[in-house]
Amino acid sequence: MKDTLRHAGKRKQLVDILIQKGIKNKSVLSAINKIPRHLFMDSSFEDHAYQDKAFPIAADQTISQPYTVAFQSELLEANRGDKVLEIGTGSGYQTAVLCELGFKVYSIERQKELFKKTKLFLSKLGYRPKHLSFGDGYKGLTEHAPYNAIIVTAGAPYVPKPLLSQLQINGRLVIPVGDNKQIMTLFIRKSETAFEKHELGEFRFVPLLEDKN
Ligand code: SAH
Repeated sequence: MKDTLRHAGKRKQLVDILIQKGIKNKSVLSAINKIPRHLFMDSSFEDHAYQDKAFPIAADQTISQPYTVAFQSELLEANRGDKVLEIGTGSGYQTAVLCELGFKVYSIERQKELFKKTKLFLSKLGYRPKHLSFGDGYKGLTEHAPYNAIIVTAGAPYVPKPLLSQLQINGRLVIPVGDNKQIMTLFIRKSETAFEKHELGEFRFVPLLEDKN
């Protein structure tokens, strides 16, 4: 596992691209500038790690595009020390970004192989999420609720009710909703029963799978 000056140089270029695409949050940009994304991917894709693209990882899944990671992270508007739940740990790259932002990170993955591999890998890199869970993200993680923010990193055909109900008041859920393509949707919990909804453009994710193991 090597991170070289050449990698750091490429990361800086990636950050410049994200700035051009409209990412403003300094902490998010500095997390991306710091995290060795190439180590989260199969070594045969190493040369592509700092392009602004999604890539295949194990178990037919993908590591999200850096722009998408940055866009979703920015939308959380969470502060250091806040509790943030991620659905779809995958490669752990987004998890690492959330850790760099100083959040207390909880993350759920339904693919056993990825769950095990990523848990080990994140700890090797020195990232310490509060809790990595093997299970179904549609249910959220009631034991640790409520959360200041929830981020879903797979395309949800509909908005799972448990995720809305596990948000704290003023908490934010960032979720791509749709089947073949998704609309990035932000829900802000205004009260026990009221949610504000914002739609923020089209994205493409692998599906959030239900009732399968
Ligand atoms: N955040 C990841 C993105 C991975 S792709 C990264 O940065 O690499 C989406 C992930 O969601 C996949 O790993 C997939 O296995 C997982 N997933 C799909 N359905 C899920 C569900 N119901 N619960 C938890 N994880 C799920």
